[in-house]
Amino acid sequence: MTSPFDPLGATVSEWEDLAGSWSLPRYRGRQIFDALHRKGDRDYGLVRELPGGLRERLASDVPLFLPSIARRDPSSDGSVKYGLRLADGALIEAVFMPGTRSFSEANEFEDARAHPGAAPALRARPFAGAAAPLAKFTICLSSQTGCAVDCAFCVTGRLGAGRNLTAGEILGQLYAVLDDAGRSFDGLRIVFMGMGEPFLNPDGVSRALDLLFERVSPRRVTVSTSGITPAFARFASRERRPNLAVSINAADSETRSRLMPITRTHPLEGVVAAMRAWPLESHRRMTAEYVLIAGVNDSPENAGRLTRLLAGLRVKVNVIPLNEDPVYLPGWKRPSEDAIDRFAARLSAGGLPVTVRRSRGPDANAACGQLKGRTEDPRRTRG
Ligand code: SF4
Repeated sequence: MTSPFDPLGATVSEWEDLAGSWSLPRYRGRQIFDALHRKGDRDYGLVRELPGGLRERLASDVPLFLPSIARRDPSSDGSVKYGLRLADGALIEAVFMPGTRSFSEANEFEDARAHPGAAPALRARPFAGAAAPLAKFTICLSSQTGCAVDCAFCVTGRLGAGRNLTAGEILGQLYAVLDDAGRSFDGLRIVFMGMGEPFLNPDGVSRALDLLFERVSPRRVTVSTSGITPAFARFASRERRPNLAVSINAADSETRSRLMPITRTHPLEGVVAAMRAWPLESHRRMTAEYVLIAGVNDSPENAGRLTRLLAGLRVKVNVIPLNEDPVYLPGWKRPSEDAIDRFAARLSAGGLPVTVRRSRGPDANAACGQLKGRTEDPRRTRG
């Protein structure tokens, strides 16, 4: 039987309701939920505390499906980019990023309390296996099978819109990577910075967050948005909120519209107002992401404007030097290391905590803006 019930995306109470509708004690629902999300059983046949007949009925009526690994592209820095095949054949991408001591110093996903004030700009460091691996690691998840937002610097955006992932597909994506990496939830950080705009999939992402927060502190989960202003209120009103990252990329509307056409429908002023309205716990900061592109948004004037735009916000700026892609992003260049340093130093001098992201997995095309889920030629390019 085909069922709309989403086993990996169902809450405890939905499992209990299902058990009740099958004339079973409601505690059976909790048992199944715990087996899937706490014990890590990926097959009902492994849930030994359930009667055999129930295990068979579950397999038949609400079958489990985990994305299959279609591609596994390891990078020299230890990151692994996964191509994951969903039940309908769609291909999405997720990235496993191991923690290292040097990475943790410049990791924008760390607890923002690590940078409570105007910290000096943190310079990207070489990957070189010099640093001892830490237990912590980050998994970057996709929320859609493509992206309609069409940011000029993003490979995913070149491929156009996709469908929303269900909460079960988002959890399945995480479990597929965890299983393959041989890791548990210990040390796990999650970032929704893969394919898609999480705020355009508020139902799937919000439900996935509810399920994730059963196992992971909200402080270990970051949702990144391009600034879909109507969705801020929904996520802000959650009882348990993830960290917020907002992709800013330019401090004036003209440049931002060029980089992010969505600025025309969601103006920059509204995005910053939504950031100011975001309820931050004490000692927390949100992140403003800034993809740095040579000759486009990397001048001292750009840095000055950004400092003024974000004044008064408890925000940390994460500078992300562009990952060049001559096929998908012809004409866009990464600034020189000196230009990157100068830009970051200027922000820092203006009182903004700032980090410079070390791209994870550039040789596997696993770095920011390089997730595309498909391998065919781009439909659209931007010069
Ligand atoms: S950067 Fe994010 S929001 Fe923009 S096109 Fe890429 S995936 Fe979509």
